[in-house]
Amino acid sequence: MAFRHPDDLPLADPALLSVDAVIAIDGPAGSGKSSTARALAERFGLLYIDSGAMYRALTEAALRLGIDPADEAALAALLRPAQLELRPTRGETAVFWDGLDVSSAIRTPAVETAVSRVSSHAEVRRLMVERQQALGRRGGVIMEGRDIGSVVFPLATAKIHLTASVEARAGRRHRQFAERGVTVDRQAIEHEIAERDRQDSEREVSPLGISPDAIVIDSSALSFAQQNEICARACLVNPALEATVDRDPVAARAGLDFRYRLAYGTMGALGRFYGLRECGNAGLAAPAGCILAVNHISLWDPPLVGGTLRRRPMHALAKAELFRPAWLAGRFFRWLDAIPIRRKGYDRAAFGQASTALAGGANLLIFPEGTRQAIGHPGLVRSGLGILVQETRAPVVPVFVRGSYGRHPGGSLDSPLEVWYGPLLRWHGLDDLLANHDRRAVSERIGTLCRAAWCELQARSHAQNPETEFEKRLGDKQLRKFAARQAQVFGR
Ligand code: C5P
Repeated sequence: MAFRHPDDLPLADPALLSVDAVIAIDGPAGSGKSSTARALAERFGLLYIDSGAMYRALTEAALRLGIDPADEAALAALLRPAQLELRPTRGETAVFWDGLDVSSAIRTPAVETAVSRVSSHAEVRRLMVERQQALGRRGGVIMEGRDIGSVVFPLATAKIHLTASVEARAGRRHRQFAERGVTVDRQAIEHEIAERDRQDSEREVSPLGISPDAIVIDSSALSFAQQNEICARACLVNPALEATVDRDPVAARAGLDFRYRLAYGTMGALGRFYGLRECGNAGLAAPAGCILAVNHISLWDPPLVGGTLRRRPMHALAKAELFRPAWLAGRFFRWLDAIPIRRKGYDRAAFGQASTALAGGANLLIFPEGTRQAIGHPGLVRSGLGILVQETRAPVVPVFVRGSYGRHPGGSLDSPLEVWYGPLLRWHGLDDLLANHDRRAVSERIGTLCRAAWCELQARSHAQNPETEFEKRLGDKQLRKFAARQAQVFGR
């Protein structure tokens, strides 16, 4: 349900917001993202970045140089070497393109009409996202746009989807133009906004939409002060929830039965033997009833990741083939609370067991790509993760494993062995998404978000330990080979 009043969200302590927080505000044209993002930046001491201004600057340069907004290659060639600088001011961000001040030129109706076309190209978006991530990766930023929560910062501390009716948004844009002394027909603005909504939501690459973990706020009937207040509260929801997570490893382990102590002890020893490094898992914080969604590159992943958990009962979805012969492997894996899953089609029984385990407070380990992928290239997430999330609403911790490939008894030191934990993804925006999309489309969005989270964790890992030659070579080779296996495992 979209929140419509500040009192809909509880007050929380602003001190909960860490200095390296990343706040993502997405929403359609004229929803008031920019003004609110600026106000929140000041309130919380964050750097404000207007990603729309970057697409506008490229559009303005293209129009000025006579480049067709439909010509992807020419736009990418224009953007690649360009120096694009955003300077925060009290009002709208000042924007410089190769040293030229284009701050006013990017806000004209001509640019507004062409910008959606320009921003629809995959290569343009890839280059822009790279720049945006570079601006914000160290944290302490609030960035607004269309795909910030879902693509640019999938691990953001807080994600807000700010929306309002077309009429309310057109009214605000009309006033903005009037303040700048520009006369534009209100009807025309309404039409332009509706058209831009349509283009931004229907484009193939990163369409505008609610990230399933975003807090949705409808500001149609809110004053500016109320809108800022409710958004400020939304920034604090996840940090406040985080603060309630039990991080006492001793208490959580006390209830574990013999099987788990044995399994966690053995798997932990395996990780230590190979020098496994755990990142982002301070206090082993995966709370009860959450899903751990892990990328899959090697048969060693389950025990290596399992060894980093060791806090509470853990069920794992594993391919049915592993449970044969039933009297030996079947018995062993069931004893370890593994759940066999048939990978072709939808395995109702397996998902039913997984939901029951989650409802009982266990954690669930799954590899949602369904089969191993080329190293360095997290694969597409299959619909299973989205189906489980929709059925259980269980929060998800994205987990990225690196370097398990080539690790076998005796070991290979060709890549660092690391397990990276992302923050807990909580599904605040799920109901609003389901109100406008079918379950399959919602599953797809959940999967896309999970994969984006792995890619971000991988980027963080590479920033600390650059990708090795071994990883690059093997990844490229596997990429060519694995397409065939994918078809074999899942059918068409
Ligand atoms: O937010 P603003 O109205 O300035 O954005 C201008 C246009 O830039 C949007 O209509 C959209 O086409 C594009 N945009 C985008 N992704 C973003 C930000 C803006 O595609 N993150």
